[in-house]
Amino acid sequence: MTIEAWRITGQPDLDSHIGWRVELAAHLVNCLTATSAHGRPVTPPSGGDDRLAALTDQLAAVGRVPSLLTADEADRMAAAGRPPLSLTDADADRLAEVAAELRPSFGAGDRILGAAARLNQLLVRHNAVPNLHGDPHRPLVLSFHRADADLVDAWAADTGTALAMVIGVGQAARLGACQADECSLVFFDTTRNASRRFCDLACQNRTKASAYRARRRAQSS
Ligand SMILES: [Zn+2]
Repeated sequence: MTIEAWRITGQPDLDSHIGWRVELAAHLVNCLTATSAHGRPVTPPSGGDDRLAALTDQLAAVGRVPSLLTADEADRMAAAGRPPLSLTDADADRLAEVAAELRPSFGAGDRILGAAARLNQLLVRHNAVPNLHGDPHRPLVLSFHRADADLVDAWAADTGTALAMVIGVGQAARLGACQADECSLVFFDTTRNASRRFCDLACQNRTKASAYRARRRAQSS
């Protein structure tokens, strides 16, 4: 997804770079921590293999498998002898912990200071650091993890930094949480005026329909 209406700096490349990492954060939170979705309770995956399967499915649904990483990162993983998508069950368990730390940043409202404190701790724990990756044959790419970081640390640092950048430019409201009943999914709101309230059209329509029925009942009573 490219971000048309919103610019951190006026540089589309940086926006899409940060934007994908915010979306990755939302995917991690949704598939590893959501306890309800689209009006129904759901059980988050609990074992490493289930978590890995859920994450793989979630990212495949948005066309991010197997190239989950930037080309730069994929090349680095390949150079290190690991295929681009080499998450293990244990990695998935660690990513579930990362997702739990990222979740409070979405829909934080007046709890933003607490969310920011957890984000700051996450960034320290996973050694987040601005870092230019690249070599003489490829353009340099700005990442937020050390070149020798493992995949989990890299994702934690990159997603955490992306959320911090959104919050830090006064745009925390763009880290949305679905306002429909029985839906704990989160999303990155890229609408022009940051007005999105629901994870998708299904939740929006369900909420509108139930509000309509409530009005009808009130009128007829
Ligand atoms: Zn929803």
